[in-house]
Amino acid sequence: MLESPSKRESCGIFGIYGSQDTARLIYLGLYALQHRGQESAGIVVTDGNTVSSHKGMGLISDVFKDGVLEKLVGSMGIGHVRYSTTGSSMLRNAQPFLVEQIDRVFALGHNGNIVNIAGLRRKLETRGAIFQTSTDSELIAHLILHKRGPLEERLIKVFDELKGAWSLVFMTPRGILAARDPFGFRPLCIGRKGDAIIFASETCALDIIEADYVRDVQPGEIVIADHNGIHSVQGQRKANSAMCIFEYIYFSRPDSMIFEHGVYRVRKQLGLQAAMESNVEGADLVVPMPTSGNYAALGFAQGSGLPFEYGVIRNHYVGRTFIQPSASVRNLGVRLKLNPVREILEGKRVVVVDDSIVRGTTSKLRTKALREAGAREIHMRISCPPIRYPCFYGIDFSSKGELIACNHSVDYIRDYIGADSLAYLSLEGMFKAMPHPAKNFCSACFTGKYPIKITDDSTKHCLESSPVDACEW
Ligand code: SF4
Repeated sequence: MLESPSKRESCGIFGIYGSQDTARLIYLGLYALQHRGQESAGIVVTDGNTVSSHKGMGLISDVFKDGVLEKLVGSMGIGHVRYSTTGSSMLRNAQPFLVEQIDRVFALGHNGNIVNIAGLRRKLETRGAIFQTSTDSELIAHLILHKRGPLEERLIKVFDELKGAWSLVFMTPRGILAARDPFGFRPLCIGRKGDAIIFASETCALDIIEADYVRDVQPGEIVIADHNGIHSVQGQRKANSAMCIFEYIYFSRPDSMIFEHGVYRVRKQLGLQAAMESNVEGADLVVPMPTSGNYAALGFAQGSGLPFEYGVIRNHYVGRTFIQPSASVRNLGVRLKLNPVREILEGKRVVVVDDSIVRGTTSKLRTKALREAGAREIHMRISCPPIRYPCFYGIDFSSKGELIACNHSVDYIRDYIGADSLAYLSLEGMFKAMPHPAKNFCSACFTGKYPIKITDDSTKHCLESSPVDACEW
């Protein structure tokens, strides 16, 4: 991944019902999901009578230390790691979001982006609702509280009003509910560990606690874990789903299974496809841009028959560059993070495989570093098509104006980043590498075909939620 400063994950969610070791298992699950959000983290647990919670800014290991976990006692709970795709980065926006209603306390953790939030919020405010945060999660909580009837029915009514992407875990005094939007944009799976039932954004969070994968929560489905075990209600589901294709390309962990298929294999397949489309005759090596380019590079090497070498080494002890606030510090972070290996690269014609180019600025720095390390030729191969459109469904890409492929040709980008050649995977090639038919994916950031209509409210929301990378829609 060359472009992390402007391609940010959304959130990771985790829930567990029926455990003796609730807080520690949630902590471990969130640890495995840390790649989905590093700004804030939170855990809420309950024994059915009392509720304990702890939230903070920063990484899981920073937020939960000094005996905090021991104070979180209960047999069920939910957890959340967050990157602020909506609402600014501050503690009061950290999740799970707690709602106290008369004598009952609910908690909600959400991953995704509601595109009609502004209209719904206005409607609730005219009815007297007072919001404490600017998050989608609070909006969902208010909508649930304003409905009548059994919780499952209220949720279905709320989901009928929402437009956008949501995978969520919801804790009540009686159990944990997990739900996905009717398009199934974001992943959410169910696991089991002994008698405990678990919900998690990705299966890597099940692996870390030695839980078994049961199945995915289906688009539009509400799954309930309570004293009756596990049962589910099917809400509205679209004929064609819109799973985020970028989860396979970049966001999810390679050791996870999402949307019922392993990420590692899909990434390798993307690389194989890229080798079929744009092999470099006479090249000496295939080098991955670590670490998200590793699996596509492996596929490219196998598809092309070229040797695979680690020509760039990642320093794992450098924080993600986008956490840094200013451009100058951010660039320093990029240089610290990846270091070319001279003895591998010197005098060689190198095929460099990466998962995407967003702004191009980081790619330019990397290409320069590879040349300084002696690479004779640099042929950049990208394992997806050019990203030309912003995402409104929970992934904080840069503004349209900052996406280099939005206004520039591949030749321009090649010259800008300083590569000898540049080739992106074709749209058809990307879909061929996928384990589901193209019609079941959202690929709007490549095609501009948004599964849910984008309104003025959603673009305004985008502006409000991206004070730095303002949306120039
Ligand atoms: S626009 Fe792109 S990043 Fe956003 S949901 Fe669709 S495929 Fe995923």
